[in-house]
Amino acid sequence: SPRDKKYKRILLKLSGEELMGTEGFGIDPKVLDKMALEIGQLVGIGVQVGLVIGGGNLFRGAALSAAGLDRVTGDHMGMLATVMNALAMRDALERSNISSRVMSAIPMSGVVEHYDRRRAVRFLNSGEVVIFSAGTGNPFFTTDSAACLRGIEVDADIVLKATKVDGVYSADPKKDPTATKYDRLSYDEVLDKKLGVMDLTAICLCREHDMPVRVFRMNKTGALLNIVVGSNEGTLIEE
Ligand code: UDP
Repeated sequence: SPRDKKYKRILLKLSGEELMGTEGFGIDPKVLDKMALEIGQLVGIGVQVGLVIGGGNLFRGAALSAAGLDRVTGDHMGMLATVMNALAMRDALERSNISSRVMSAIPMSGVVEHYDRRRAVRFLNSGEVVIFSAGTGNPFFTTDSAACLRGIEVDADIVLKATKVDGVYSADPKKDPTATKYDRLSYDEVLDKKLGVMDLTAICLCREHDMPVRVFRMNKTGALLNIVVGSNEGTLIEE
């Protein structure tokens, strides 16, 4: 029997790195299939899912710039990388019979549709997974900011940020054995303690618009579904 859902509409942010599996670059279709399955469970209990996927498995503007490329060009490449990831995710979702759409902040006629908030909300209401790609469409931003922006725009109940660690810690748990996990943090604590969960633009945007963020570990099986039915996985960031 379907469990009671806590959220009607979520914005899930996946980093590009989540898609590469055990490889150091690119996309692992097996990982995508597993994610599609987990997203399908949410759709199955009637949760509306907006998705933002990063591009760090392919290109990051800052890294390209450090290697000598023009920063804005590098950011454009990073945003295009997110479109590739979105196409791969749509493919995996549709193979699992989950209707989905890719919208892009950068018009790319014939490949994906251009982002339009009202259309996005209509698709979400009709139960389609909407993948928001090309970030915000602007250089010098990240897909964390894009996730928070789209989440706020489409009036999601929460932004769920999937990471490699199971929440926000006082220090890097891989380097510092005394690091402790926070169950809850305020936006100001994240900023004051310089916790580096998300970039500052993203946190400020959420604080300004009262958008809660939950940071959790995606490759822990069932974590996503648990959160959506109300369990306290990971760390909640709110007022
Ligand atoms: N990017 C950008 N503007 C945006 C979102 C992303 O310029 O609004 C570029 C930026 O170069 C970034 C890259 O796209 O490094 C990939 O996104 P991100 O680093 O956020 O991916 P993730 O770390 O989540 O995989």
